[in-house]
Amino acid sequence: MNKIKMTTPLVEMDGDEMTRVIWREIKKILIEPYVELKSEYYDLGLKNRDATDDRVTVEAAEAAKRLGVAVKCATITPNAQRVAEYNLKKIWASPNGTIRRIMDGTVFRAPIIVDGIAPYVPGWEKPIIIARHAYGDIYSAVEDRVAAGERAYIVIEDKNGGELRRKLICGFEDGGIVQGAHNLDASVAAFARSCFNYALDKKVDVWFGAKDTVSRIYDRRFKDIFAEIYDSEFRGKFEKNNLTYLYTLIDDVVARVMRSKGGMLWVCKNYDGDVMSDMVATAYGSLGMMTSVLVSPDGSYEFEAAHGTVTRHYYKYLNGESTSTNSVATIFAWTGALKKRGEIDGNKELCLFAEKVEKAAVKTIESGFMTGDLVLQFKKEGVTPKKLDTVEFLRKIAEFY
Ligand code: NAP
Ligand code: MG
Repeated sequence: MNKIKMTTPLVEMDGDEMTRVIWREIKKILIEPYVELKSEYYDLGLKNRDATDDRVTVEAAEAAKRLGVAVKCATITPNAQRVAEYNLKKIWASPNGTIRRIMDGTVFRAPIIVDGIAPYVPGWEKPIIIARHAYGDIYSAVEDRVAAGERAYIVIEDKNGGELRRKLICGFEDGGIVQGAHNLDASVAAFARSCFNYALDKKVDVWFGAKDTVSRIYDRRFKDIFAEIYDSEFRGKFEKNNLTYLYTLIDDVVARVMRSKGGMLWVCKNYDGDVMSDMVATAYGSLGMMTSVLVSPDGSYEFEAAHGTVTRHYYKYLNGESTSTNSVATIFAWTGALKKRGEIDGNKELCLFAEKVEKAAVKTIESGFMTGDLVLQFKKEGVTPKKLDTVEFLRKIAEFY
């Protein structure tokens, strides 16, 4: 059989634990027999990040910007326990944080929908895609505790340090807490453009909610920047594609989302996206069915699964026990990257192959073959779910090609 050729490499970022095991098997079983894979390989496994003083993460992110398409395996974000376990030189930063900072992107999370795995919200027939603004607000806020009798202000200075404005936040009669959050016009504008571009690419409506009735300057600024950019750069393209942009209060968005059939891009401020993405992921079933893509303003893409390295399964695997880890989100990370590479390079064959793999993965589950996480949830008339182990599941998908 003739393998499909690639003209340009994609960036391959290897990772840790169970997902590193799955990574190797996906390539071996589902991709390399059919595609002459061209990839620039970066080992983001924790050992190599430590050995390179984390330079490998920076180099991988820069390669993603240069080549335009990357696929990333889940990686360990070190904590004190990992420092001991891996004998690390220090607590390295989160690789996803580093990559996001360099690519300056927006994260879009979308569930993979399969007949037989009904979402907990019965009306959600189509995927709800969540875009989370990944800059500012409480994530880079300055906080303090304040004692009785103290006062806290917002003070704005000019560039020479001269005081321009001073607003009292609270004169504390009793002890309390205070928080100072910020955001940047440019970051909100880049976020808006990423969201509108992504929605045009996927042909979905955009819903955005904030709390501008209460936060009349801060949240209001988000609303206004989105409106300005939509009107001046996107309204025409949206109307041509029969797509709409809806801004309403966050409470109203939540209510509308619950009543909806899904199928929209739900744009969230940083905190809303953090919280709502976990709710939406859970409602659609397993974390193993949730994909994630980081899109940079210059049009570079980094695809990954939304879940982590599935540590508990990895320790079973190391003990020689059988594991049944869901590889679907990682498979879709690969197919997403191959499809995008194909689109950019005008490589139709590669795009069709990626779609074939996705259909085969969905078909495999719909025919009753799945990993343990899905078995209890699966309900389809005439089909009894069968639990396969990690590698059996991948081999089964290849049979459906
Ligand atoms: P996790 O790896 O997502 O796993 C949490 C639990 O969810 C698992 O123990 C498993 O439940 C279930 N699960 C997740 N993915 C699954 C899959 N593909 N198939 C079957 N079950 C799955 O999250 P974590 O345990 O919080 O984090 C583990 C490591 O991953 C940490 O070191 C963390 O830093 C890292 N992490 C990385 C990323 C990333 O690179 N994007 C994201 C999140 C976390 P059961 O054990 O009950 O089967
Ligand atoms: Mg969260």
